[in-house]
Amino acid sequence: MAVGEKPVIQVVGAGLAGVEAAWTLARLGLSVRLYEMRPGKMTPAHRTEKFAELVCSNSLGGEGLSNAKGLLHAELRAAGSLVMEAADQFRVPAGGALAVDREPFSAYITEKLSSHPNVEIVREEVAEIPEPVAILATGPLTSEALAEALRRRLGENFLYFYDAAAPVVLGETIDMKKCFRGGRFDQSPDYINCPMTEEEYRCFYEVLTQARQHTPHDWENLRFFEGCIPIEELARRGYLTPVFGPLRPVGIIDPRTGREPFAVVQLRQEDREGRLWSLVGFQTGLKWPDQKKVVQTIPGLENAEIVRYGVMHRNTYLHAPRLIRETLELKDVPGVFVAGVLAGVEGYLESAATGFLAGLNAGRLARGLAPVVPPPGSMLGALVRFLATAEPENFQPMSANWGLVPPVEGEMNKRTKREAMFRRGLSAFQMWFSQIFPGHAAQP
Ligand SMILES: Cc1cc2nc3c(=O)[nH]c(=O)nc-3n(C[C@H](O)[C@H](O)[C@H](O)COP(=O)(O)OP(=O)(O)OC[C@H]3O[C@@H](n4cnc5c(N)ncnc54)[C@H](O)[C@@H]3O)c2cc1C
Repeated sequence: MAVGEKPVIQVVGAGLAGVEAAWTLARLGLSVRLYEMRPGKMTPAHRTEKFAELVCSNSLGGEGLSNAKGLLHAELRAAGSLVMEAADQFRVPAGGALAVDREPFSAYITEKLSSHPNVEIVREEVAEIPEPVAILATGPLTSEALAEALRRRLGENFLYFYDAAAPVVLGETIDMKKCFRGGRFDQSPDYINCPMTEEEYRCFYEVLTQARQHTPHDWENLRFFEGCIPIEELARRGYLTPVFGPLRPVGIIDPRTGREPFAVVQLRQEDREGRLWSLVGFQTGLKWPDQKKVVQTIPGLENAEIVRYGVMHRNTYLHAPRLIRETLELKDVPGVFVAGVLAGVEGYLESAATGFLAGLNAGRLARGLAPVVPPPGSMLGALVRFLATAEPENFQPMSANWGLVPPVEGEMNKRTKREAMFRRGLSAFQMWFSQIFPGHAAQP
């Protein structure tokens, strides 16, 4: 940008995150250049040249006042989101979920941005990190040239190409009467251990070996790296293979028996507050209903709520806790923001939400204002705080869930508690948005 010229903010990628970022900037009165490499260069999953293409399911998640994604829907609506505007216009019946007719949904968003006077569309691949102020929103299938540029600039250990994630459960749903805290060969409280008797292990093994696997697309390139083998593959190799692998009991003493159990599933803390716990060594590509059945066969996890299912697929994302601020600005490249899956979130809706925040903050920076973060009780505020502060050792992309949000006090059943968190989060977000977004009161 030359001195005296009107700033042009570059947004790379017109997926769920990029369109919301461009829309936010355009509404702020800024000029946007939105780069999209399709159709000249397609990704292995996209089929059209439209913006915000939904590459798989047509659902933007569950609705309702006790639903974590429902809160994010409400926040995005309050913020005047283009993705939510299109979703509400082209919704199709889907029980308690917000599902859309994908073709008109994407066509509507493409048309809205293409006809906006503040938006210039450039159908080109971007191969280098753009000059600030800019937003990178190139998603899980970021082109190789740009991924290479990111790796050169940010360090090769901090850009992932493959997601081999274990399920994450909500801490408050773990039955601590059956589990105990402790490390291997020490009493550190870092892990939660779910001990199994031989009988319990046999039952778990049976459910695991009968569970159905997700059928990968060719391009998902499901290679197993030793050390990152899915739990179902270990089970396939032999009855006791998991017991000599991630379920090994060596050095873990159950305080109730004073002995090592037959097998142990360990859970590791995912967030600073200890609300989210992942199953150690449990990366899996099982279908979600089957995954739930397997997890709930583990003693202590019978009623565990899975807030993030395990996945094994190609996924390009940055190591957010090391690289990204809560404002979504890259620590090492001031003025460049990231959004969507590249920033370490999972899901269409989460991608759109981070696109909104990256757009808002890029716009503020271009105007000489400090970037901002939504309040912690809001789902978007909680999500970006998680990205910046997650346990760095085992960072995995995250989607909206109640474990990210500070709990509300008082004796209430689960549903009432969540509804209270919903109301608190939405009103905090609406108040914040009205103060921060000039000339736009939050939508009711
Ligand atoms: C196969 C697959 C299935 C998924 N299924 C679901 C699902 O069912 N539900 C769900 O909630 N989430 C799903 N996800 C996860 C994720 O939510 C979606 O991928 C979502 O679209 C991510 O939004 P995004 O904006 O980060 O990336 P995208 O929506 O993928 O947008 C990125 C855009 O950047 C463009 N691009 C890439 N590199 C460049 C470049 N160098 N220059 C210019 N343009 C570039 C791409 O063409 C694309 O249009 C899935 C992911 C994958 C890979």
